[in-house]
Amino acid sequence: MKLATRYIHAGTEPDPSTGAIMTPIYQTSTYVQEAPGVNKGFEYARSQNPTRKALEEAYAQIENGKHGLAFSSGVAATDAVIKLLSPGDEVICANDMYGGTYRLFTKVFAKYGIHFNYVDTTDTNNIRKAISPKTKLIWIETPTNPLMNITDIAAVAALAKEAGAWLCVDNTFASPYLQNPLDLGADIVMHSATKYLGGHSDVIQGCLVMNDDSLREQLYFIQKSCGAVPGPMDCFLVLRGIKTLHVRMQRHCENGERIANFLRSHPKIGKVYWCGFTDHPGFSIAQKQMRGFGGMMSFTLKDDSVENAKRVLSSTKVFALAESLGGVESLINHPASMTHASIPREERIKNGLTDSLIRLSVGIEDADDLIEDLNQAIG
Ligand SMILES: *Cc1c(COP(=O)(O)O)cnc(C)c1O
Repeated sequence: MKLATRYIHAGTEPDPSTGAIMTPIYQTSTYVQEAPGVNKGFEYARSQNPTRKALEEAYAQIENGKHGLAFSSGVAATDAVIKLLSPGDEVICANDMYGGTYRLFTKVFAKYGIHFNYVDTTDTNNIRKAISPKTKLIWIETPTNPLMNITDIAAVAALAKEAGAWLCVDNTFASPYLQNPLDLGADIVMHSATKYLGGHSDVIQGCLVMNDDSLREQLYFIQKSCGAVPGPMDCFLVLRGIKTLHVRMQRHCENGERIANFLRSHPKIGKVYWCGFTDHPGFSIAQKQMRGFGGMMSFTLKDDSVENAKRVLSSTKVFALAESLGGVESLINHPASMTHASIPREERIKNGLTDSLIRLSVGIEDADDLIEDLNQAIG
């Protein structure tokens, strides 16, 4: 089945009791049992909810996986993956990843004796060198947030297999429309569904998708034991969002390309980070593993002062100054003080995330209006 058809029908069957074409919001905490232990597969809503079940099926289908699990946020999904591990286990992860993931690893899990080894994963040799007998998990993000660095998923999957470790890919930035890590050999795909999957900036949610039955059992056990499950209304919103993922992503890609080219040709713009440029260092890998390049990008100004960056950030009228990404509306963001403020400054700057970097989440408005807005803001 082609992507458009799959996204519209993923997980949703007409409701058996009424024929409702949209999956109902089962706003219930418990289910009446016919006799002790005799039930319809639903006992208590932390463990099972029909709206969530439909969405989890949709998550599996859109990532070409066997099993999907929904969590109350993207970081709750990440948290569940790390809870597969035990003290003494080692994780190899990217040195350039979502600030909240870095905070969870360094500030929460490091004190439980899990060791995180941060490397530049764009060169897979760095991963190979970091592997030890204690390596249990490799965690990558590609493209990265906000520098749009690309890691070769298939090459890392091969290394993980050899090491007997799991590979988990945070696929939030690409979305399943542009990239499917399980097809490239990853064991787990993670999404912040808050972003492109929900797509309308109205819900916080996360998910995991996997093929392995035993991995699904372990993660389902963590989901119900730790309890970071999304409510049925939030599941409904993401189910609805997924139905238009393909048309939204097509426009994000078209607008992204136009704006990246506009920025690059602007005399006051310094460097533009967008993985669709043929001279982007990861372009050939991106072309191999992605179906398009999306609407996420970052840039610097030629006058590289923080004041000048802040002036541009405060001057846009269509682009809203906000954290988050992947919604229909365009957002502009200052990673150093907003999304990535939890990463120590020296770490940030060492990885190229300077104080004057500006990130865009290009939405699906008319590209002419977006370009005009950036043009007047850059001045
Ligand atoms: C937003 C985001 C997360 C965290 O997801 P939440 O839904 O905000 O908890 C993780 N990874 C990436 C790449 C993100 O952009």
